[in-house]
Amino acid sequence: MFWDPKIEKLSREKLEKLQLERLKKTLQYVFSRSPFYKKRFTEKKFRPSMVKSLDGLARVPFTYIDDLRKNYPYGLLAVDKSETVRLHTSSGTTGKPKAIFFTRDDIGRGADLIARCLVMTGVTKKDVLQNMMSYGLFTGGLVMHYGAEKVGALVIPAGIGNTDRQLMLMQDFGTTSIHITPSYALYIADVFEKKGLDPRKELKLKRAYMGAEPHSEETRRKIESAFGIDVYNSYGLSEMNGPGVAFECQYKDGMHLWEDHFIMEIIDPVTGRQLPPGQEGELVLTTLCRVGMPILRYRTKDITRIITAPCRCGRTHRRIARITGRSDDMFIIKGVNIFPQQIERVLMGIKGVARNYLIQLESYDELIVKVEIQKRSFDGSVDHMAGLKAEIEGKLRAELLVRPKIELHEPGSLPVSEGKAKRVIDNRKL
Ligand code: AMP
Ligand code: ZN
Repeated sequence: MFWDPKIEKLSREKLEKLQLERLKKTLQYVFSRSPFYKKRFTEKKFRPSMVKSLDGLARVPFTYIDDLRKNYPYGLLAVDKSETVRLHTSSGTTGKPKAIFFTRDDIGRGADLIARCLVMTGVTKKDVLQNMMSYGLFTGGLVMHYGAEKVGALVIPAGIGNTDRQLMLMQDFGTTSIHITPSYALYIADVFEKKGLDPRKELKLKRAYMGAEPHSEETRRKIESAFGIDVYNSYGLSEMNGPGVAFECQYKDGMHLWEDHFIMEIIDPVTGRQLPPGQEGELVLTTLCRVGMPILRYRTKDITRIITAPCRCGRTHRRIARITGRSDDMFIIKGVNIFPQQIERVLMGIKGVARNYLIQLESYDELIVKVEIQKRSFDGSVDHMAGLKAEIEGKLRAELLVRPKIELHEPGSLPVSEGKAKRVIDNRKL
């Protein structure tokens, strides 16, 4: 199903023409309206007129996360403050958050993109969507909410946490779709198991939209089988509206990135050079329709690749592959580069492993992986536990080329964070 078939199936030629038109307009617009871009362009001796084709985008200076922090709160604003109607922020681990402003039309366009995503995966006005993302400064709550309302679904703004109430709402109102972080979905599956209930029988759930955190294909499968549903990967970031940037269609093979609203590039994070289509690197995004706060060539730090093959669904907007990590997520143990998601992928593929885990870094050569295992295994024989531990250690070692120290934990005993999961605890004093 299509929300906006004309634009979703627009020919590549027309789509690229539209991108170029919008890019040129955006460049002129920020140069005259945004104090940050006026200064940046001047310093870098860049002029909007230098971009005559989409290839010319490579001449536009990058925007970094730090630019948003340093120019907090209003530096990137391109309209008068009175034109803005909503503020979202996204925090890193330190310092000031990034402040993102929306005009009324920006909100409408964001909702429209969500509507495309939901309809693409089968949502209609008959659906009940329980939004289990935090309603607040984080975009996951409100941005999804507005889009789901636009489709006409009944939206339950449940937010995250208070799991007993979530279950009650799902049962009483026949929730068919949920929007959730992978870590919270895993947690809820655990709660069902502890209560001795089978979500496949208790709920009317058909699908989950899972995003906001990196997760592996193995985690998707685990959640699909625990709930008996389809799980769709949803990618977004506050700087680009929040959810609705890229989303899987019914084929669940990469996420269509809405190219009439964003230009994507994949670059080498070290040299900053564009990489050929299909090669993995850092995703860089440029907004094409934002009025309140356009952002150009934004260094997302998210690592992915463009899937070049056309999709069977008929949409012409290209797909990005599942995010494999963030360039700033990576840690080094004994000189080896490791992404937390490599660990997750291995763990979630092992039978007997439960749903939560924690990576602890103690020194340059010590990697501790704390793993919750299923109750059956935890209560099993000493030999069984030793065997499971050896299997986890062996498989992780084969993947990472570093021998980790494995600790097995009872299900439900490792800390769970509200909001985004914190999987890595770095106790190294480097
Ligand atoms: P925020 O701005 O707080 O919403 O955080 C955005 C970041 O969350 C992105 O830059 C990604 O690192 C991460 N993220 C969001 N959705 C996904 C996803 N589906 N898969 C992996 N990482 C994601
Ligand atoms: Zn598709």
